[in-house]
Amino acid sequence: LNNPVMAARIEDGMAPFRDARWTAAPVIAGETLGGGETLLANPADRTQAVGTVVSADKAAASRALDVAMAAFPAWRDRPAAERAAILDRIADLYEANTFELMAILCREAGKTRMDGVLEIREAVDFCRFYAAEARRLPPASKGLGPFVCISPWNFPLAILTGQIVAALVAGNTVVAKPAEQTPLVAAKAVALMLEAGVPPDVLALLPGDGAVVGAALTGDPRAAGVCFTGSTDTAILIDRAMAATGSVRAPLIAETGGLNAMIVDSTALVEHAVRDIIASSFQSAGQRCSALRAVFVQSDIKDHLLAMLEGAAMELRVGDPWDAATDVGPVIDEEARGVIEDHCRRFEGAGRLLFRHPLGDAATTGLFVAPAALALDGFDALEREIFGPVLHVIPFEADGIDQVVDAINQRGYGLTLGIHSRLDDRVEAICRRARVGNIYVNRNQIGAVVGVQPFGGEGLSGTGPKAGGPHYLARFTQPGPSAIPLPSVP
Ligand code: NAD
Repeated sequence: LNNPVMAARIEDGMAPFRDARWTAAPVIAGETLGGGETLLANPADRTQAVGTVVSADKAAASRALDVAMAAFPAWRDRPAAERAAILDRIADLYEANTFELMAILCREAGKTRMDGVLEIREAVDFCRFYAAEARRLPPASKGLGPFVCISPWNFPLAILTGQIVAALVAGNTVVAKPAEQTPLVAAKAVALMLEAGVPPDVLALLPGDGAVVGAALTGDPRAAGVCFTGSTDTAILIDRAMAATGSVRAPLIAETGGLNAMIVDSTALVEHAVRDIIASSFQSAGQRCSALRAVFVQSDIKDHLLAMLEGAAMELRVGDPWDAATDVGPVIDEEARGVIEDHCRRFEGAGRLLFRHPLGDAATTGLFVAPAALALDGFDALEREIFGPVLHVIPFEADGIDQVVDAINQRGYGLTLGIHSRLDDRVEAICRRARVGNIYVNRNQIGAVVGVQPFGGEGLSGTGPKAGGPHYLARFTQPGPSAIPLPSVP
């Protein structure tokens, strides 16, 4: 994106969509349902209209499952290669529509250009990877029936696409429920999937309230399985709703929240660690499930690392993501901003603010949150996942590495862990001891790299199998409850 020719192409490509408006509505059997419309505003200014959404209700959820049940046998019995070819066409159409998709991601979800490009790339990679995997599925493996796919707003294209195409190519029909905040990019994605050849009765889209439409779908015994990405609390609700149907055959494939840490010891290359900390905690305004929440820094390098980190953080440009120079865009909604700001205020009141970006003009317009670093005594003092550009810093002593890993394990989440160290033995020991799904050594702690670094958490962070990996599709063909059930919370 730093290449001026490429940057100019993107600028020109996105320009026609600067003031465009999109619509989203329930789509069942290819038919778009009408109803009361809600206006969606751009989180970067809270006033510019981006489009309108018609929300589905419980009756629509029931109808969508009827249609998905009826369409299932014919879709299941189509050769896997035919279904895979449709996924390849979806990838082609996403690429052909890159600029429009980037524009919707920017104006609906607050994604910067870099975030937008990476997200579309990931969605395309999911399509091509699962298409290739489906061609290798044993001929005897069959879909299970209607799969309910429930996605979050933070990767509203990549995760929605990954879930839907995996379920479809494995021979299931799909009813998809996108996040309330991001129905517009979901509607565009589903329109492209239908254009690519997904039969209309095989895929339904139901924008709407999670507690209404999501609950109706997951609590319906006709759902042959649920693929969910979102918060751990919601996954537990879904687990219970599925159990209440009395069906023990439906799998729940859940990717959930995390409390992600990084360990930086005194042998680390501090410049590299700082680069990766900045990218992992502050890019996407900290709204990635994989994002770094707490860095454990060996005491002897703490001051040095913090000085460099503060300098680098102050250079970040926070503002309208439509502007090519922006590094950090807005957070998704008022509620999210309130939770993050309350958290920062509490720490600041307790004298635990290490530094905070000055924000400047951006503060007066959109839903911006100033990237911040907060001092923490121990990992257990971090009450929960703070889904924003906020880094917690915890010092440790040279002989305390094992206790650091134990503290991470004790929280029960297990999504991502970063390690910056030049001691191979130490890195190996940490990898052996840590109970997390994805470990990043001396590099940026990001999410999935489809086909290369499959993504998924342990414990409270998910049920497995890992998305973008070789075992993922099989789970859409095997009845039975989750292999690793989420711990139930009383
Ligand atoms: P969320 O749990 O609030 O919502 C996710 C989806 O669930 C939405 O579509 C929502 O409408 C739906 N939903 C809400 N209540 C429901 C119910 N009772 N029944 C059925 N569906 C319901 O999560 P969010 O705020 O959209 O996303 C942020 C969270 O997602 C963070 O915790 C983040 O860590 C997690 N996440 C995890 C991964 C991963 O791969 N592990 C990836 C992205 C996001």
